[in-house]
Amino acid sequence: SLQCGLVGLPNVGKSTIFNALSSAGAEADNYPFCTVDPNVGVVPVPDDRLPRVAELAGSPETIPTSIEFVDIAGLVEGAAEGEGLGNQFLAQIREVDAIIHVVRCFEDEEVAHVAGSVDPTRDVEVINTELLLKDLETVEKRLDTVKTAAKKGDQEAAEELEVFERLHDHLSEGAWARSFEAGAAERPLVDELFLVTDKPVLYVANVGENDLPDGNAYVDQLRPIAQNEGTRVVVTSAELEAQLTELDPEERQLFLDDSGLQRAGLERLIHAAYDVLDLITFFTADEKGAYAWAIEEGTRAPQAAGEVHSDFEQGFIKAETIHFSDFDEAGSEAAAREAGLLRTEGKDYVVEDGDVMEFRFNV
Ligand code: GDP
Repeated sequence: SLQCGLVGLPNVGKSTIFNALSSAGAEADNYPFCTVDPNVGVVPVPDDRLPRVAELAGSPETIPTSIEFVDIAGLVEGAAEGEGLGNQFLAQIREVDAIIHVVRCFEDEEVAHVAGSVDPTRDVEVINTELLLKDLETVEKRLDTVKTAAKKGDQEAAEELEVFERLHDHLSEGAWARSFEAGAAERPLVDELFLVTDKPVLYVANVGENDLPDGNAYVDQLRPIAQNEGTRVVVTSAELEAQLTELDPEERQLFLDDSGLQRAGLERLIHAAYDVLDLITFFTADEKGAYAWAIEEGTRAPQAAGEVHSDFEQGFIKAETIHFSDFDEAGSEAAAREAGLLRTEGKDYVVEDGDVMEFRFNV
């Protein structure tokens, strides 16, 4: 599954959020919290539609889809120059699909701030500078190799050299790899560098419990920064989330309803991460269970089938498809069939969020 890396300065609440997410994973029936790596948590994506799919299809259990969260500790000022274990952590960030940038927006004299005061604008700048420096280093290394090859008369290298020099200028001006304009033929060259500033980012403002759900003046500093980068801010309280994981599900809902919050911050965070990864959900259901599957928006039916089983993609014939809302309204498969709501879709069909699908394939 796709991975989100939690980054941020020390003491902003990353581990607290990570642990709350991990225990949410440990709690879900079919997702024993993966302990392959203590820094990676497999977290189920809550979806209210899934139990209803199971009910309609007569499936005995529900199996949600999941996202992996990675706790990337240790980013500090100077990390790109090897301060602390910084460069190692930056290397970890290259592996993830999206970045969740946790920013301290709470005051607490008991919790030391690495820079002595709460200041989201400065904090974000510190982290983002390290990310940019890491990318500059990556591009410079590549430039060295390509330059040498170009000097020896390698024509392909000469063309790459031009792209990487432009990219280097772009990053040197403080702009992110994400906003680098590369031609269709150049894009793969940029992609294969796995630049950290090329990844989608989501900001998490960690506030005190009393500043939920709207935030505070620190969060207001953060919002325009996120907006400038074309992304958004999720306001959560890591401390509150940690406490919520101690409650059983009914108590938790009671607490949330009482405080007018409706949904736990973690759930909003998981959904926001799903969004920045450009993911949508389709369902399958049989006598074993009802499953939710995550695919990138724009995925066609055979590739969606491949998520379920690689044989399904290779031998794909067609997909019996019904949208969740039609299925829900019809109330049963027989009624849906009767009403002509079941569609037969072929290999060019672009799967929509909420599709319930049954694949037909050759073995
Ligand atoms: P990390 O270094 O970013 O992983 O931060 P931690 O999650 O270890 O948190 C650092 C300290 O801040 C711990 O003592 C937490 O209990 C505390 N902390 C985390 N989130 C909050 C919060 O929302 N409010 C307050 N007051 N303290 C918090």
